[in-house]
Amino acid sequence: MKNRFTAILSLLFIAGILGLIYLLMMPQWVSTDDALLSEYSTKRALEKVKVISENPHFVGSGNHKMVGEYLVKELQKMGLETQIQEGTTLSDWGNLTKSKNILARIKGSNSSKALLLLSHYDSAPHSYSHGASDDASGIATILEGVRAFLENKTPHKNDIIILFSDAEELGLNGAALFVTQSNWAKEVGLVLNFEARGSAGPSYMLMEVNKGNANMVKEFTAANPSYPVSNSLMYSIYKMLPNDTDLTVFREQGKIQGFNFAFIDNHFNYHTAQDDIAHLSPKTMAHQGTYLVPLLNYFSNSDLSSLQSGDDYVYFNTPFNFVSYPFSWVFPMVMIAVFLFLFLVFIGLGKRVLVFSEIGKGFLIFLGALLVSGITAFFGWKLLLKIYPQYNDILQGFTYNGHDYIGAFVFLSLAISLLFYSNSNSENKTENYSVAPLFIWILINFAIAFYLPGAGFFIIPLFFSLFMLAYFVTTQKTNPILNLILSIPSLIILVPFIIMFPIGLGLKILTGSAVLTVLVFGLLLPTFGSFPRKGFWALVLFLISIGFFIKASFNSGYAIGMAKPNSLLYVYNADSKKAVWTTYDINLDPWTKLYLGENPKDASELNQNPLFSKYKSGFTYSVEANVIDLGEPTISFLKDSIAGSQHYYKIKIKPNRQVNRYDVFANENMTFYNLKANGATALDQKGSLYERKGKKLVSYYVVDNEPLELQFSIPITDVFDMDLMESSFDLVSNPKFRIAKRLPWMMPMPFVLNDAVVIQKRIVPSNGIRKTENLKSRNLTPKDSLTVNIDTLITK
Ligand SMILES: [Zn+2]
Repeated sequence: MKNRFTAILSLLFIAGILGLIYLLMMPQWVSTDDALLSEYSTKRALEKVKVISENPHFVGSGNHKMVGEYLVKELQKMGLETQIQEGTTLSDWGNLTKSKNILARIKGSNSSKALLLLSHYDSAPHSYSHGASDDASGIATILEGVRAFLENKTPHKNDIIILFSDAEELGLNGAALFVTQSNWAKEVGLVLNFEARGSAGPSYMLMEVNKGNANMVKEFTAANPSYPVSNSLMYSIYKMLPNDTDLTVFREQGKIQGFNFAFIDNHFNYHTAQDDIAHLSPKTMAHQGTYLVPLLNYFSNSDLSSLQSGDDYVYFNTPFNFVSYPFSWVFPMVMIAVFLFLFLVFIGLGKRVLVFSEIGKGFLIFLGALLVSGITAFFGWKLLLKIYPQYNDILQGFTYNGHDYIGAFVFLSLAISLLFYSNSNSENKTENYSVAPLFIWILINFAIAFYLPGAGFFIIPLFFSLFMLAYFVTTQKTNPILNLILSIPSLIILVPFIIMFPIGLGLKILTGSAVLTVLVFGLLLPTFGSFPRKGFWALVLFLISIGFFIKASFNSGYAIGMAKPNSLLYVYNADSKKAVWTTYDINLDPWTKLYLGENPKDASELNQNPLFSKYKSGFTYSVEANVIDLGEPTISFLKDSIAGSQHYYKIKIKPNRQVNRYDVFANENMTFYNLKANGATALDQKGSLYERKGKKLVSYYVVDNEPLELQFSIPITDVFDMDLMESSFDLVSNPKFRIAKRLPWMMPMPFVLNDAVVIQKRIVPSNGIRKTENLKSRNLTPKDSLTVNIDTLITK
């Protein structure tokens, strides 16, 4: 290879390999023809997504019922008998609702344990999500997969249960109902759950296991899906994040293991009005199908009773296969790398091809590149948030132009790295400099072996870079072609993480991408370091980076299909008889300003009883509004009596309008025992104490306008101090308000109670009459009765 072509050919080679990795990761092509009925067809699956996601179908909405009926019909069309499981559950974090699971069962010839295919059919409330990705995509994948399976009369030993669960979005209530109350749950050996946290990109396999993953990894490998995308590091990270899915309930409550298949790219569409069929990537849909078909065939015939394991495996995918090996190999592999490294350095020093002073300089250069790239990305992103304050509107933390920023910072980091190495103009220097990144990678792998063995496979690229050094030390030459070939494992194993980290965890960790870029650059140093005219190439990469920044800047605003999330609520306080408009928005826009005006007040007073929201959003601004007659709820105390040291209550809250949600708050000093909400006790409750965090007692998502009945006792020494928020999600459609339509480049903000008409009301125990009667019946003296009444007065 001629020297002046080295750089361009190397860059082309690297780009080619990366392109291949990208193309081979998931299906790249979706047929628009009608496939044979015996085949799984993404096109047919997408047609079902279209029907289900026609309209938002959150629990309690009319469309939710219609979707349920449609799914029953679809299952019956395939000749399956359906069952409806209906019941009220109260999730561990206080979310109450009545859910309706849709079930069907296909008998196997000799079942060991049943295989459960799972997906939820409710869409997210509050934000007009059409639920195309989340989770019509999963439902449709299962419907189409089972259809083809039955069409082929595929022989199978195990029973197959189909569960279209309800109320996943509210608190995994449907899954909880199935796991705790269905007899079928006890027979389930494995769950395949199809989910979404975005609307595009590859679907990742994420395991939920009780202890070790070894048998699950082996069985997944044996099932042999065409495009497995997964690795044990992602599983470790997934475990640390608050991303609960229905499968979590299966694992925690039922000790049942399973595989999640979830796509996460284009996070900005998640739970928004943009989660519609137009934004769902067909390739992603096809990817879900490539998991379901082979796994359904395999697991409907395999032994599902032996998937538990005490051991853990490291695993990762390559474009060609799915690799796995025991956790117990991680540390020995690190030790082998240490010895190999020390041996090579020793030989190199002995042969005088490695020199201490040059190795030392290599450390300064490499750490400099790492530091400067990391700091640039860290403060760069902070600066961008100042220049474009609208980025804060997107709570998911990944902006519409987020991919451009990943490109921008990756190329910037490469440019910085090349600049740092611009004085390494000989092979010899470059090889001396490559000792530093190898050493840093050994340290990283040491840390991984002890703290994050799931990332144990990060040692593999290091071995290949050690081989580059080995070749140099033994021959005193470098071979550019060999170096490029030895760089392939780094490209396959490490580069995807540079992109995946910010897509998965948000742009706030762009610094991580920048640092990882330099670390990978370090492993490929024998290639990059051999570039002549590094200053020139740094400039080229820098210009590419600038190009990405410019592109991002052009797409920094809002547009149709890339809408600004905003929020508006009308809150009426039934005690003070005052009303306000309020919002969660940081940046008001022409629509919110119509109601909040130019100078709204701070809304912190409204946050005294904080409503749950994923990103802990509170109300930001409020302004006084006209009082509109709404019909406040009737709160009646069906029971209000004392026995021993406990005060017993039964409270019924009945709506006097169409409502969707009740939030009940109680002073943190109140301790609740034996709490039942519409007859349900908390899922995780042990003993009689009702555990809660903060002031929230219960959030009830109303179905069919059914009242809320709360039953509990509190110690008589506790002061009764409770509040109610009653919400309907109809602010925009309610004729009493005549709210202007949002502009086409706006949409309701997700993850918060939005577009709602809210009535706040104190929950105040009835007057002393019933209480006195109770006291009389228990032969208490008037003095006792007086104390109790004074208590009641104080609480008012
Ligand atoms: Zn979902």
